[in-house]
Amino acid sequence: MKYDLVEVFESLQGEGRNTGRPCVFVRFAGCNLACPWCDTDVATRFSLSLDGLLAEIGQYRSKSVILTGGEPTLVKEMPELVAALKARGYWIGVETNGTNDADWLQFADYVACSPKVEYPDRIALGKADEVRIVASSEAAAAFCREVRGKIAATDYYVSPCERDGSIDFATAKSVMQQLDGWSLSVQLHKLLGFR
Ligand code: SF4
Repeated sequence: MKYDLVEVFESLQGEGRNTGRPCVFVRFAGCNLACPWCDTDVATRFSLSLDGLLAEIGQYRSKSVILTGGEPTLVKEMPELVAALKARGYWIGVETNGTNDADWLQFADYVACSPKVEYPDRIALGKADEVRIVASSEAAAAFCREVRGKIAATDYYVSPCERDGSIDFATAKSVMQQLDGWSLSVQLHKLLGFR
C-alpha cells in the first residue's frame, strides 16, 4: 500500500467555514479534471507507505488534517488512512471536486465540495458540509443555482478565480449579485501570503 503525494505541510485553512484553522494539508497526486485555470501541480513528487504518511503527518502539532489534491477520492487506499487517522484522534477535512461519491467520505468530519463550472455533468456527490464554486466565468451564476439543487450543504460559497497570480474579484462580485444565500470565500492564504 502506498500513497502518491505532491506535498504534506502545516498551515492555516484559508477558505470556507474553517478559515483560520491550523491543519496539516496532505496533497495527493492526480486529478480526473483539467480546469483551464488550475494552478495546482498534481504530479507525484514522492510516495509513502501508510506508516510513512502517518509519521509525516505526526511530526506536525496540528491534530486536524485536510485531505486534498488533485482529487483525494481517486486514492484507492484512502479508507485505511482515514481509519488510522481517526484511531489517532485526528479531525479530518476533505476537499473534493465532487465527481466521486466515495464511501469513506462518511467518516470525514468535514467535506468541502468544489464542483467546476467547466464540468457541469460530473457532479456525483449529493451532500457536503460546504460547497465552494470558483467564479471562473459569468456562467458560474447559473451553475451555482444548478449545484444548489443537486448538493445539500450547510454553507454555499463563491470564490474569486485566480489566473496567473491575478485574482478576479469583478466576476465573483457579478456572480454574487445574481445569487441569494451564497457567501464570498476569498483565498485568505493567498491574500496574506501564507502557504
Ligand atoms: S479539480 Fe482542482 S486540482 Fe483538478 S484540475 Fe480542477 S482545479 Fe486543478
